[in-house]
Order: sequence, then structure tokens, then C-alpha cells
Amino acid sequence: MSYGPGHHGDARQMPETAAEIARAVRSGRLRAAELVERSLARIEALNPAINALVQVDAPRARRRAAEIDATIARGGDPGPLAGVPAAVKDNLCTDWGCTTCGSEMLRSYRSPFTATAVERLEAAGAVIVGKANLDEFGMGSSTERSCFGPTRHPLDPTRVPGGSSGGSAAAVACGMAAVALGSDTGGSIRQPASFCGLVGLKPTYGRVSRWGLVAYASSLDQVGPLARTVEDAALVLSVIAGADERDGTCANLPAEDFAGDLHRAPADLVVGVARPGRGTGAGESPGMALAMERAAQRLRERGAKIVDVDLPHAGAAIAAYYIIATAEASSNLARFDGVRYGRRAELAPGQGLADLYERSRSEGFGPEVRTRIMLGTHVLSSGYYDAYYLTAQRARRRIKQDYDAAFARGCACVLMPATPGPAFRAGEKTADPIAMYLEDAYTVGVNLAGLPGLVVPGGTEEAGGVELPVGVQLIGPALGERTLLRVGAMLEAR
Ligand code: GLN
Repeated sequence: MSYGPGHHGDARQMPETAAEIARAVRSGRLRAAELVERSLARIEALNPAINALVQVDAPRARRRAAEIDATIARGGDPGPLAGVPAAVKDNLCTDWGCTTCGSEMLRSYRSPFTATAVERLEAAGAVIVGKANLDEFGMGSSTERSCFGPTRHPLDPTRVPGGSSGGSAAAVACGMAAVALGSDTGGSIRQPASFCGLVGLKPTYGRVSRWGLVAYASSLDQVGPLARTVEDAALVLSVIAGADERDGTCANLPAEDFAGDLHRAPADLVVGVARPGRGTGAGESPGMALAMERAAQRLRERGAKIVDVDLPHAGAAIAAYYIIATAEASSNLARFDGVRYGRRAELAPGQGLADLYERSRSEGFGPEVRTRIMLGTHVLSSGYYDAYYLTAQRARRRIKQDYDAAFARGCACVLMPATPGPAFRAGEKTADPIAMYLEDAYTVGVNLAGLPGLVVPGGTEEAGGVELPVGVQLIGPALGERTLLRVGAMLEAR
């Protein structure tokens, strides 16, 4: 399978990263129209096999590109992402096309508005080429649970790209888009980034507006970038971050330029290394263990001090996450009832309102979503609330305190695996929810603690004759993205 940029008969060397593209477009060296055609050609060639994008609006993308070229021709500046082809996960509302969340329930849902993050991306000059596949409502780690069918790993079609932002990751890995927006509730940006050899950033909770992101678990959800380089992730973050009065949990901070001092290594850098998987059953594959050693070594060579840190409550993260996330999901998904929102079931004569709710919800949601709604309803029900939900909230606090302790000891960030190993085979974990949930062992704690997490490529691991990427993760203190991105840039191969 041909993979990635440069292998699709491009007649001449064209830039692949968002930073290079925007530079070329802003300086008039390349036209946005040419770049969008290249993206559309790759989509046409690769998307039928990969299924990364579930909607492509080529006329709209071409119109947007023409507008950008016209701005340049007038001597104007379309913005820091001028002409950059982008994809957005299909749980981000757009006032064009449908916003499906990969669910039968919303297959034909048209949003009257556009999510803040998407709006800001376009206002900065990006050209959205399509909406990306996902696990239904963001619930999954493999992008196998979408009403549009699974997304395939770009390097090996028998494997998954990770999830739930697997479509966003595969689209960037294949060069259909230079950057993509995903959402991360428990790892959905970072795990696919690790599997597809990309940079993925889950910002601090409150850094990016959630307005227009269809809610899965509101206290955990964040929108963030998937990109080829740390610089591109920083560029996208600079554009999408910042105060938004439409999201009450969005921090009231001014916009910042995260890409500016990226390649200046932080002085007196101390990085904590955590290997919590060794005690949780999630484990570390040989390739991941090697990637961790290499990353620590590289930071040491560049002057960082590496210390071991202990995260004693990391083992509780999966249990706490799958209680809190399902509890919040059961409430958030109540609105999809075929009356207020969502696909309405056809009733047989004599059936009433209760049948309408029941049938609409049974027919509209897939099995994993139904399971999670039932789990969430159960953990919140009287008699079980204390045992499950309250205990999980206590664990959540302890998990956060573990990180706080590491930062209080002087660590600028914590280095940890992003995933237990490289991409697994399609179908391998769909029958075993626990095995699927264990994929999130290294990522969910970061959401519970509300912290920023950055995944950068760490190396590869051979599996079935294919060299599959694995990513390492850097976790920083709240609002510590600037340092996190700078440390991430130190790890990038160049
Ligand atoms: N895999 C996790 C879940 O299924 C995380 C998903 C996400 O971050 N949206 O809930």
C-alpha cells in the first residue's frame, strides 16, 4: 500500500507540513488552489481503502481555497494556516454537511452552527477538505465502531488506526490533510497519534472551547490537533485556543503563539519518567520500551535531567475513567431520543411515546454506546452512587495529586508511553471490552487530571512484516503547553 506524502505522483516537491504550506501560500510561491487539488486527489486515491473521511465537500474546499488565493492577490494575509488542507472529526459541528458522530442516530443531522475550534481554524486560513471518521460518539479506541464502517491503518489495512479520532489520524498520515482536529476524552487524539506516527496534543481542560463539540463526557472532553510535526500542532493550538464566552469551562486566557520559541530548549529542564504500565496489566511492548529509553536518552543528551517518578494511583485510572465517562455520557446522550434530537423510529399502530423513545434509542445507538449509557445510568443510580461514582471521583483526585507531586518536585513534565504498544489488528479487541479499555491505560489519567498531554513519534516496532510507529507521551502541568511543546520538539527526529 502506498503511504504518506510524496508517493502519489506529485510532479514536483510540494510542502507537506502546515508550517511550510502556510509559508509558501502567504509568500505567493504556491496557490491554495493547487494544494487543495493535491489533497482531493489523495482522498480520491486512498480514501476508498482507508475510510478516513466520511464526508468530503470538494466544491466548498475549492471555493475556500479560491478565497484565500484572492486575499493573497489583493495583498492581504489569510492567516497563519493559509491554504493548509485540514480535516475535522465528525463530532465537531459544522453548518455545512452533516455532523454524524459516526452514529446512525445523527446520520442526517445538520447543525445550524459551527464549532468554535473549527470556525477559528478556517478563520486562520485552513481549508477544510472533509469530516473524519470516529468511533460512535467518541466511544472507542480503534475507529471500528462507526456507522460508516471502520477506518484502516494507513500502513497495514489489517490493523486499526487507533481511536476514536482514527479518521483524523489516518487522513493526516496519508497526506489527505496536513493537520486535523480530533477530540480527546480519554486518549482519542493521543492513541491514534501513537499508532499512526503523528504528533497529537490533548490540551489542558479549558484551553480550547468545547462549543460545538458534541459532548461525550463534558468534564474530560477537549478538542486538539493531530499533525505531522510539533510545530504544526503548536500552530493549530495557537489558532484554536483562547477564551470563548459560549463555553463556560473555557479558561479566560488571551490567544498565545505557541510556535514562536519552539526550538529553544527550556533551561534547567527536569523530566520525570513514569512507567506505570508495569503494574497495571497494560504493559509495554518491546518497541515501546525501546522508544521510552531512546526518548529519555535524547533528552539527557540535550541537557535535561531525568528522574524517575511514581504515579501510585495510575492503576485506578481505567476504572475511574470508565465510571465517570459513562456517567456523564448517560446524561449527555439523553437528548438523542428521536424527539429533541436524532433519528426517529417508525412506530407500529398502537405504539406510544414510550415506544418511540425506546425504539429510537435502540435503533439509533450502536451496542457500545448502549452499554455505556446503561453502565453510566447504573453507577449514578441511588444505592450505587457512593460505591461507584463517588469512589471514582476520589480516585480522580488522587490521580491528579500524583502528577501535582511530580511537578512540585521540579519536573517540568512527565514522560510516559502513549499506548501499551503499536496498532493492533482489526477485530482483535472488539469482542473483549476490557482488552479494548486497557488500550487507554496511559491516556485516561491525563484527562481525569485535566492536564495537557502531547504524543510525539518515538520509534517503530516490527509486526507482521510492517514497521509500525509507537509514540511517547509528555504530560505537563495545567496550562503548561508551551513547555510541553518545546520538550516535544527536542524529541523530534530531525
Ligand atoms: N477510548 C476511550 C473511550 O472509549 C477514549 C475515547 C475518547 O477519548 N473519546 O472512552
